[in-house]
Amino acid sequence: MPVVASESVHKEADSGAMGNDATKLTSARAAAAEAGITAPTIENWQRKGWLPAPPWTKHQITMAQRRSRQRPGEGSTAPHGTPARYRAGCPCTPCREAENAANRGLTYRRGMAHWAELGPALLDSLASGVSYQDALAAHGVTQQALTRHRHRDPDFATRLDEALMIGRDPTLPHGTNMGWKARCRCPECRAFHQSYDTQTAD
Ligand SMILES: [Zn+2]
Ligand SMILES: [Zn+2]
Repeated sequence: MPVVASESVHKEADSGAMGNDATKLTSARAAAAEAGITAPTIENWQRKGWLPAPPWTKHQITMAQRRSRQRPGEGSTAPHGTPARYRAGCPCTPCREAENAANRGLTYRRGMAHWAELGPALLDSLASGVSYQDALAAHGVTQQALTRHRHRDPDFATRLDEALMIGRDPTLPHGTNMGWKARCRCPECRAFHQSYDTQTAD
C-alpha cells in the first residue's frame, strides 16, 4: 500500500518536471517574461555565452540567472566566505561574516599586543604597592579595559591577582567591607564585594 502511494507521487513529480522542461522559450521576450526580467538582459546573457541560441528550456534560463546573481566580486578568484572575496565587492552573507570574523580577530590581536607591552609594567606597579586606582591612572587603563583583558587572558588574570596580593596594604582587614571601602581590589576584597553584592541584590 505505501509503495503504491509513493510510486504514484513519483510519477506525478516526474511528468510535472518533464512538462516544465519541455516548454521551449523561443524568444528573448518569452524567456524574459519567464524569468521576470527584461529582454535585453536575456540578450546580454547570450552575448556573454551564458545561453546558447534559442530556443531555451526554463532550466537554461534559471542557470543563466543564477550566474548573473554571482556577479558581485567576480573579479576575485577567492571563494565565497572569505574576506578577500568580500573586499572584492561580494556582499553575500558568508563573505560578510568572514570579513567580520577577520576584523574581530584583528581587534583581538591588537588588544593582546597592547597588553603585552602594558601588562608587565602595570603588574609591577601593583606588586610594588601602588594602589589599584593610581596604578590604572598612571598606565592609562580604564577599569573596564582591565576587566575585559582579565576575561580574555586567564594567565594575565592569575598574574594580576598575584601582583595585587603582593602589593596590597598589609594593615587592611582584607576580605571585608572595610578593605573594599579602602579601595583595595585584591582577590579577597573582590570576593567579599561580589558576595556582598549578591546578598544585597536578593
Ligand atoms: Zn560571497
Ligand atoms: Zn584586599
